Amino acid sequence: MPASHLMWPFFERRHGDLQRRLDAWCGEQSWTQEPADAELDASCRDIARRLGEAGFLKIAVPEPFGDDASLDARSLCLMRETLARQEPLADFVFAMQVLGSAPISLYGNSAHKEAWLGDVAAGRKVAAFALSEREAGSDVAAMSMRAEQRRGDYVLGGAKAWISNAGVADFYVVFARTSGGKRGISAFVVPADTPGIRVSERTRVIAAHPLGSLEFSNCRVPADCMLGAPGDGLRVALGTLDLCRSTVGAAALGMARRAYGEALQRARGRELFGGTLGDLQITQAALADMATSIDAAALLVYRAAWTRDSGQERITREASMAKLFATEHAQKVIDRAVQLFGGEGVRAGSVVERLYREIRALRIYEGASEIQQVLIARHELKDD
Ligand SMILES: Cc1cc2nc3c(=O)[nH]c(=O)nc-3n(C[C@H](O)[C@H](O)[C@H](O)COP(=O)(O)OP(=O)(O)OC[C@H]3O[C@@H](n4cnc5c(N)ncnc54)[C@H](O)[C@@H]3O)c2cc1C
Repeated sequence: MPASHLMWPFFERRHGDLQRRLDAWCGEQSWTQEPADAELDASCRDIARRLGEAGFLKIAVPEPFGDDASLDARSLCLMRETLARQEPLADFVFAMQVLGSAPISLYGNSAHKEAWLGDVAAGRKVAAFALSEREAGSDVAAMSMRAEQRRGDYVLGGAKAWISNAGVADFYVVFARTSGGKRGISAFVVPADTPGIRVSERTRVIAAHPLGSLEFSNCRVPADCMLGAPGDGLRVALGTLDLCRSTVGAAALGMARRAYGEALQRARGRELFGGTLGDLQITQAALADMATSIDAAALLVYRAAWTRDSGQERITREASMAKLFATEHAQKVIDRAVQLFGGEGVRAGSVVERLYREIRALRIYEGASEIQQVLIARHELKDD
């Protein structure tokens, strides 16, 4: 269990306790291997239930439903790092409980929180975040989904694409236009069984991940499903992503640590040319680069989380740096690990082969790497 970073001044004692408790719990679970398509939804629901019963989803929501007064970013990152190292699908399930409920935790009123957060924390209800559209991914303000006000209700019409937990979730936080322009987007909490919602496509990706497109047709929701005021949608989405982006970096860090651990074992044990793989200086250079980028990623991830926990509401620059660096470098670390395994590295179902597929989407979702570069540079070029 890599734990030396828990001695860094970013952390309190409770963070080390959380990581040890989660690591021990993960060790007791019988994770099925990457589930087949037909079992994926049930596996995700089962993991949500197990995480909820063990109390770990209390990290995903604030008091009185969760453990902390506000969402503790360091705990969220430690959860994702540890789960991603142990079982990437469990990390996905945890991450979605956070991403799909954080708009409620951060911007909902007490009725929204009462209605959803207790069930999210118990693993009884599964959450989803429906922002992207086929023609509006990176350029989220280009979205065309509409919410029209009719006799006190809102009627949603349009389509969302690339939605994690489509068809699994009990509710979706949906972003839709109530008027034109960037300030014309609003956010709604919509129960998944609301008439007029249909999963129009299930999208298969390179690593097991329940994903799909949603169609909204004459889907009527009461006006009190809105989070914040009309036009607050982009603020809700960006504020949520601001919190969650450093946790994507944390998941990448967990996957990189796992790959590095596997690579170290391989370097110690694989015999060739009269010695071990690890005796070769080119292998040593690779291991040194891997270890250094893992520590650098951890520093950026936990710097971002600590900055938020220290009271800064928006941490766009720090979170973007953490996500950009940790995901790009995890990809490189995992690729080096595959290389060190030789043929075994590309054997379907091996640990590093699965990580090689799992890591790829993290450089794309919640803002592709280029979007993080734009956000960082925009911040740097701002007048002081
Ligand atoms: C596995 C997975 C899960 C997802 N889950 C969700 C979810 O739960 N909810 C949700 O709402 N969305 C989700 N998404 C969608 C995801 O957020 C989008 O795919 C992402 O924002 C990119 O949008 P896009 O696919 O339309 O690509 P595009 O916007 O077409 O971008 C394509 C590429 O163009 C480049 N690019 C973009 N902008 C710039 C720029 N300004 N400068 C230079 N280059 C640029 C980047 O390399 C980018 O990857 C998920 C996606 C994946 C793959």
